[in-house]
Amino acid sequence: MKNLLLGEYEKRDIQVQVTKVLRGLGNPSPPLKLEDVRALLDLDVRYYRSGDDSAVQEFVSKVRIGLKQIVIRPTLLWDVIKRAELSALWVPDRRRILVDANEPLLKHRWFETHETLHSLIPWHQQFMLGDTLKELSPSCLEVIESEANYGAGQLLFFQELFVTMARSLPVSLESIRLIAKHFGNTITSTLWRYVEEVWADTPVVALTSVHPHYLAQAEDPMQPCQRCIESPAFKQQFGGVGENDIFARLQSYCTYGKRGPIGTGEIIFTDVNGDSHYFCFESFATKYHVQTLGVYSRKLATAVGF
Ligand SMILES: [Zn+2]
Repeated sequence: MKNLLLGEYEKRDIQVQVTKVLRGLGNPSPPLKLEDVRALLDLDVRYYRSGDDSAVQEFVSKVRIGLKQIVIRPTLLWDVIKRAELSALWVPDRRRILVDANEPLLKHRWFETHETLHSLIPWHQQFMLGDTLKELSPSCLEVIESEANYGAGQLLFFQELFVTMARSLPVSLESIRLIAKHFGNTITSTLWRYVEEVWADTPVVALTSVHPHYLAQAEDPMQPCQRCIESPAFKQQFGGVGENDIFARLQSYCTYGKRGPIGTGEIIFTDVNGDSHYFCFESFATKYHVQTLGVYSRKLATAVGF
């Protein structure tokens, strides 16, 4: 799935909300302490386990007390969670965030902040009740989700602080690992913000995928990429390049290693005008997936006829 670019007006509105929170916290240093954010915004975070029916009963009965919609249709909230395969949820009436405890612990930080942003973005309130969630079109839902992700990135990466740090370091996965550690966030979330925010004017692309040499082990070998993040410049000039096309090139330079750096290589892409350009690619394998960063290098010299 490719990333969606948001409108400048919406981005600015979200930035204002995030600045207010950081100011409310006394403009702290990274990493962001989520317990401080919860206290400041008066949010309550609870965990549920998807697939655990007894816990689900308890969870639904608890929610039923305070949430009007659930009183009318007791299974509605749980239906919404199951159908949308949600990993987390924002329940406005209770100022409560629900996170699926079955998700890896490392991801909870992102999920909680994403839901916090739903609570902060004024125009999200009308969409976040179970009833309306059902009526949202997939494209509208995608915008809402992208806005919450954008805001979560702004908050967890301290807005301009992240951009300033990233620009002071060489463009590489090693830098991304350093930045991730500094802000206490996952490498995946750092990689995504890095491509979207830091190198907006340079064609850069990032993939989170299965290992190119172990495709058979993928849940769905037809969809090896979990996410494909393009910088605005990449979208504009190379938007026609599909994520599976990019993934197919990884085999040319990746080793069979299962952990750590698995190779670097040059890859040629054709832009919207039909010109060819070199990109420098590098990939890194973790327990869960392969992270790849591709950065624009130079135009392919064309032979001049006489
Ligand atoms: Zn969401």
